[in-house]
Amino acid sequence: MTDFTINNENLLNSSKAILNAGEIALVGSGPGDPELLTLRALRFIQQAEVTIYDRLVSQEILDLLPADSEKFYVGKKQANHSVPQDKINELLVEQAKLGKKVLRLKGGDPFVFGRGGEEADFALKHGVSCHLCPGITAASGCTTYAGIPLTHRGVAQGCTFITGHMENDGELNLPWDSLTSNAQTIVFYMGINTLPKIAKKLVEHGKPSDTPAALIYKGTQPQQQVHRGQLNTLADIVTQHNIKPPTLIVIGNVVNQLTEKQLSTPGFLEAES
Ligand code: SAH
Repeated sequence: MTDFTINNENLLNSSKAILNAGEIALVGSGPGDPELLTLRALRFIQQAEVTIYDRLVSQEILDLLPADSEKFYVGKKQANHSVPQDKINELLVEQAKLGKKVLRLKGGDPFVFGRGGEEADFALKHGVSCHLCPGITAASGCTTYAGIPLTHRGVAQGCTFITGHMENDGELNLPWDSLTSNAQTIVFYMGINTLPKIAKKLVEHGKPSDTPAALIYKGTQPQQQVHRGQLNTLADIVTQHNIKPPTLIVIGNVVNQLTEKQLSTPGFLEAES
């Protein structure tokens, strides 16, 4: 059996991840696989007296919390906020002011479509200090576990992370002209419900309709599904497989760069024998 103990004393003793009473740790838990937690995230998780967490935090990660950590679920479904953002902000500050060590645990990275900036801002304005801990954002974790490199020399020189979430007016006001270059990969978060609109707009603005594209459902998790197709076939794939959130949309020539197959183990590319 391989020994996975971390036995580097310097690393263990020099940790600055100390959560004091009355402070908040704003921590990204990554896209779901607990092995993608950072050490810093794990240390904050282990110190939590109160945990305020979202729907995207996986059960395996919640299982790492101290048994007596008080838990508040403030998850949201799209356009159906179970706890409004201002109430979440208030809860964070209220718990910190009670002298608790407060863990704010979010899927992915707290500062990538995670409203982490709003929460940190609110806490600071109310005199509460915040530790900040990045997480692997879905675009990075899910594509890598699907065998899709976000950039690849000679294929994609850049990538864009963008929201597919509609504004309150029902419009998708995105900079479409900046998304049409074939030299970049585009990753849409929260785009599954607006996918037909996204595909239509991209094609209208000049993106070839046969551009390779993929959908990644519950990336990095045991339920991970990767569906490869083209910009003009994605919407049908969603209907055919009844794909729901959380799903990422990846558009660009990198999609089939390493393989066109579904990996039998997420995150493991097996050589042909
Ligand atoms: N802060 C998060 C993003 C929150 S927005 C991060 O950095 O990853 C929510 C959207 O993220 C979902 O609608 C979906 O598009 C994407 N997402 C998050 N986790 C995912 C996962 N495990 N698999 C696929 N998509 C995911």
